[in-house]
Amino acid sequence: MIERPICSRCVLPHCPPDISIDAEGVCNLCREHERRPAASAQAPLLETDFTKLIAQHRGKHEFDCLVMCSGGKDSTAALYYAKRRYQLNVLAFTFDHGFETEDAMANVRRAVEKLDVPFLTYRSTFMHDMFARIIKTDSPAIICHVCAIWYMDLTFRMAERFDVPIIIAGWTKGQMTNQPVLTKCACNVSAPEYARMGQATKEFLAGLKGDPKYGDFPDSIEEVVARARKRHKCLVLSPHWFLPYSPEEYVAVIQKEMGWKYPRLSYPAKTTNCYLNFISVHRALQKYGYTHYHVEMSKLIRDGLMTRAEALEQLRVDFSAELLDRIAEPLGCRRDEEGAGNEKKD
Ligand SMILES: [Zn+2]
Repeated sequence: MIERPICSRCVLPHCPPDISIDAEGVCNLCREHERRPAASAQAPLLETDFTKLIAQHRGKHEFDCLVMCSGGKDSTAALYYAKRRYQLNVLAFTFDHGFETEDAMANVRRAVEKLDVPFLTYRSTFMHDMFARIIKTDSPAIICHVCAIWYMDLTFRMAERFDVPIIIAGWTKGQMTNQPVLTKCACNVSAPEYARMGQATKEFLAGLKGDPKYGDFPDSIEEVVARARKRHKCLVLSPHWFLPYSPEEYVAVIQKEMGWKYPRLSYPAKTTNCYLNFISVHRALQKYGYTHYHVEMSKLIRDGLMTRAEALEQLRVDFSAELLDRIAEPLGCRRDEEGAGNEKKD
């Protein structure tokens, strides 16, 4: 990995032209945040806004909402609030591309049993060839981006299949932007922090046109949303945007009420992400010097929702090369076929 100076306020490294750190050690995104007049900051969403939205759809369909459940704290809390706080008629939905951890899946099972909600799980190896291609061709495309395109497309299809008017996700305040839909990594490819990553993913996907397996794969989240809108109308919301609770508060609730546990193995620390995420993180650090987690936590720091020290602690890389190889093995590859031991300069 290339050593780069890190912004003294957030955790983004110096990566010109999109992210550059000035003589005082502060990045352009923190400077921009500083210049923004307080009045133009997004007005906080209120819980009454959320209840108004759900009231428009409640009771009109077999299910009021489809809740995306990854087994992580944020989505488990979203499921809990949907069922217990808002009394919605919930359909829980989990996808597994073959790399979800047993700990995460156990959290989902405990939650749906405890809440006694109908539960769909979709397990598929459909994405394996694409993941393998990214690794084998040493593409700078982001594995989490293509995965997010796959699972959001799948989620919209499930909402359509069961005629559900609202999709509920566990996206946090740090993952809130003005775009119509987010992914787990909140990647808005037009934001400067994601520009190069987003472009690389787009180029990789463009190279799949004409591929018998992936020829019809959407080339972006925007494309997923555009296609979904033509088929079925639904809202995508997260209760976390409207509730004043911090993760510490809702983790205590789901631990007590649903036996939720922190997974033993995940990156960043205290999150719930799949095994393949380790490979995605390793490759992003090699090629860009940062990951979407750095972007997300930097936003939280600027908004005063996380300290820089906490972010640095959670982002510390503590996984081994052996773990990466073990994870990549089912794809028939090693952690970074072309790039192994061979630092990429950009
Ligand atoms: Zn910064």
